[in-house]
Amino acid sequence: MTGRALRGGGPGLVVDARGLVLRLVPYRESDRIVQLFTDAVGRVSALARGGRRSSRRFGGALQPFVLVRARLRQRPRLDLAELIAAEPLRSFERLAGEPRALGRAGYLCELVQVLTREHDPLPGVLELLCGGLELLGDPAADAGALLRGFEVALLDAVGIWPDHRRCARCGRTIDPGRPIGCRDDVDGVLCAECGGEPLPAALWRRLLPRPLPEVAADPLAEDAARLIGRRTLARIRTLAPQRLRSVAFLQQLGEAL
Ligand SMILES: [Zn+2]
Repeated sequence: MTGRALRGGGPGLVVDARGLVLRLVPYRESDRIVQLFTDAVGRVSALARGGRRSSRRFGGALQPFVLVRARLRQRPRLDLAELIAAEPLRSFERLAGEPRALGRAGYLCELVQVLTREHDPLPGVLELLCGGLELLGDPAADAGALLRGFEVALLDAVGIWPDHRRCARCGRTIDPGRPIGCRDDVDGVLCAECGGEPLPAALWRRLLPRPLPEVAADPLAEDAARLIGRRTLARIRTLAPQRLRSVAFLQQLGEAL
């Protein structure tokens, strides 16, 4: 954790954090509400006074998909923090001008938005998100494999992904050298003794959280992507039953998740 909590500068706790801009919403005539996922305090919504005008205070920090260093004041009894200052650290320029890459980047950010709780600093999630955005701008990365790998890693970080290293029925450690099974009515996977439909070991590995560069370097066939997607999307729907804006946008581009 690189965030630092300080007292001072008026009522409320002042926190310095690194955070990625997930969403920006205009507020009143000249303000904006910015939603960030930060290393120090997790997901947070903050009021940026004057944030709709170009201001020296925020520079280029108030744009989607920008990693910023932010100074926040958490206001007692109010859900909305105040963004005192923000400076851009990194802007993932390779996404610019690529509608599909931007659509996918929007999907990663929206997943973080809907799957995390406010003020829950989940370790590793900011790095996961920045790593995903970086790879989306890399033409050598397999986008399908990357999205599925991101879903698995995020669901695991949030704590709602089954441990696929163990049999869901008897708890034995899965041996990838022996048959692995799956069943639609079983959450997780089954060992050789517990049966189920055969699941190739290469697909089983896709159900384990792995570093994104490794996942994105390993292209995923469409049928395999669908099989993994059925499981990840079912989980995502339990926490986010509403239709995601980014999914609708990607569908307009002819891309199904
Ligand atoms: Zn078993």
